[in-house]
Amino acid sequence: MRGALGGPRVLLRRLREVVAEPASAQERLDKIVVLIAANMVAEVCSVYVLRVDGTLELYATEGLNRQAVHITVMRSDEGLVGLVASEAAPINLSDAQAHPAFSYRPETGEEIYHSFLGVPILRAGNTLGVLVVQNRARRTYSEEEVEALQTTAMVLAEMIASGELLTLAEPGAEPAVRRPVHVTGAALTDSIALGHVVLHEPRVVITNFIADDVQKELRRLRSAVQTLRAELDLMLESGEVAEGGEHRDVLEAYRMFAHDRGWVHKLEEAVLTGLTAEAAVERVQSDTRARMLRQTDPYLRERLHDFDDLAHRLQRQLLGYDHAPTRDKLPEHAIIVARSMGPAALLDYDRNRLRGLVLEEGGPNSHVTIVARALGIAAVGEVPNATGLVDPGDAIIVDGAAGDVHIRPSPDMEGAYVERVRLRARRQLQFLSLRDRPCVTKDGQPVALMINAGLMVDLPHVAEAGAAGVGLFRTELQFMVAAQFPRTSEQLALYRSVLDAAGGKPVVFRTLDIGGDKVLPYMRNLEEENPALGWRAIRLGLDRPGLLRSQVRAMLRAAAGRELRIMFPLVAAVQEFDEAKSLVERELTHLRRHGHKLPDRVEIGSMVEVPSLLYQLDELLERVDFLSVGSNDLIQFLYAADRSNTRVANRFDQLSIPVLRALKLIADKAHAHGKPLTLCGEIASKPLGALALIGIGYRALSLLPSAVGPVKAMLLELDAAKAERLIVPLIKRPHSGASIRAKLTAFAESEGLPL
Ligand code: PEP
Ligand code: MG
Repeated sequence: MRGALGGPRVLLRRLREVVAEPASAQERLDKIVVLIAANMVAEVCSVYVLRVDGTLELYATEGLNRQAVHITVMRSDEGLVGLVASEAAPINLSDAQAHPAFSYRPETGEEIYHSFLGVPILRAGNTLGVLVVQNRARRTYSEEEVEALQTTAMVLAEMIASGELLTLAEPGAEPAVRRPVHVTGAALTDSIALGHVVLHEPRVVITNFIADDVQKELRRLRSAVQTLRAELDLMLESGEVAEGGEHRDVLEAYRMFAHDRGWVHKLEEAVLTGLTAEAAVERVQSDTRARMLRQTDPYLRERLHDFDDLAHRLQRQLLGYDHAPTRDKLPEHAIIVARSMGPAALLDYDRNRLRGLVLEEGGPNSHVTIVARALGIAAVGEVPNATGLVDPGDAIIVDGAAGDVHIRPSPDMEGAYVERVRLRARRQLQFLSLRDRPCVTKDGQPVALMINAGLMVDLPHVAEAGAAGVGLFRTELQFMVAAQFPRTSEQLALYRSVLDAAGGKPVVFRTLDIGGDKVLPYMRNLEEENPALGWRAIRLGLDRPGLLRSQVRAMLRAAAGRELRIMFPLVAAVQEFDEAKSLVERELTHLRRHGHKLPDRVEIGSMVEVPSLLYQLDELLERVDFLSVGSNDLIQFLYAADRSNTRVANRFDQLSIPVLRALKLIADKAHAHGKPLTLCGEIASKPLGALALIGIGYRALSLLPSAVGPVKAMLLELDAAKAERLIVPLIKRPHSGASIRAKLTAFAESEGLPL
């Protein structure tokens, strides 16, 4: 059997000449198919391009009937060409007509051809089209020929991606590469943003695909692989693993792949076909990506990421790029698209230009999500292959409330979203007009609305929302976004800035609530059977008092000359509160003895998050200065339903009678003991939830900053006594565990309350 005429290198060189010649897109494609057919000694060479409507259109052919060009259109699941596209893998057959997927198109005249080799035209793992060669004789194409055709397909991929074929397309049938794409992921925040794509890890731009000197490219590749291996060794040995934000086991995996003979061999083979070293890495990676993307096994998909990272590192090495992605020139209305990202990296971006975030990973409880929420940007997570679907600068819409992402949206879609954003802005303006009005119900009951916060970026919301203070400052966020344990001095600096920024309004600092799902990257992660019920929050604080002590000390010093409010999370027994309180008192004594200026007042409170406290309320209330109900945890434990497990999280309504009875019990007891009470779980952040809480006696709520406006708007119209007269009897009478949501909604409607 004859191999390719002149080999792939000659072909690539000729292709380069053709691509450089001034000619129309069609002329260029026509020349390319002639060249490929001649070089591969094939009677037929055809290019099919994937269109926006998902079909494959014949764009050029040598050997088939030329009249069929731009006429033959196949469904993407039709025939062998469709199979190559959907599998994103080559198909090599000596007798194509015997294959069950073979589909005959009379206009092409292809019945006389037996052998068939089709390869996908791939870019960043996405199929853009299919390149086919055919012969009359029954033959199997050699490995080298398959390889050569795949390499050639890369040149076509760049041509398609450049958009130059757009002139050849009918409207609505353009090449799919620039088509609008709608993907759905996890809704992470409440905002909507329109903007332009910025890749968190910029794709390496390859301008030179075709090698001048193959031996030189081979040397470049080998030397880059060597350097990469040495670099990984160094990173692993230097012990600076955690600081770089990369885990040891990830680096170990990289090292393993970097030494993988199969991978390096594939790269070398790609260079031998005539590609530059960087183009060879791209080719091999695009194949790997296409294959792995079709895997449903999470382990294999994870390995894809490892390979992706490694390929990136290698390309940067070859092109002399800096390892750190550049963050300096963020365009206006930037939407960051990333595979995954740490919270600190997100904070590095210019906040004034950042509008949204799309992640391939990143669920609702991930740390980067928490930061995205604090920043008030639109964010969607769990979007498969997000980075492969976009190009930098693409128009994109991120709907963080619905979990929708529209890439290169149609003008209609864009118009609809512009209108939605305008409506939201108008509502915000209405809320703004309420900002300076005292928060008092229609029947004269004052309600304190505070915000939940955790980072400095949250603090401006106190003034913006006209809140009464910070009802919950989640101190763990500083720990979660850091690369290592924040020193006492760093904690002190943060707490002081928070108090300064609150401008004299009260701030309730909650001590570290880590463990469970709140893991610190630099802390050894304990494998626990039931982390939510495990060694977390105050339990960890009391067992490792050094950590709690240094935090309490930082708080006491930060509040020198001011009032300090401290509360402890996940208290389950009164003696835990006693122990924690005496730790604070010991620290106070210590600071006094060392001549430090002390806070004017220290109020010490407990969260109510564990049902056992419901049966120790009298004892607890005798000891505390205030209580704050963490309804997120309390409800998850009352119902034994994991709050982050979507299968069970919505099984029980938060506005159900058992929950409201428990919450009312706490309110009644707190009033009886004359102790201040707040609720800081998410239930308070919905107007309907807030309505229920007012009805059972709550007068202080701590909310998501964005919820202050809507909840306040409702409260200003509410007759609290009337709500109480509705709700208290409803939850007292015998029931079957029902929700009172429908009754509350009807009440709100009849009262004209904005929900
Ligand atoms: C809660 O459990 O309701 C709460 C406010 O704490 P977190 O959400 O931080 O667990
Ligand atoms: Mg909690």
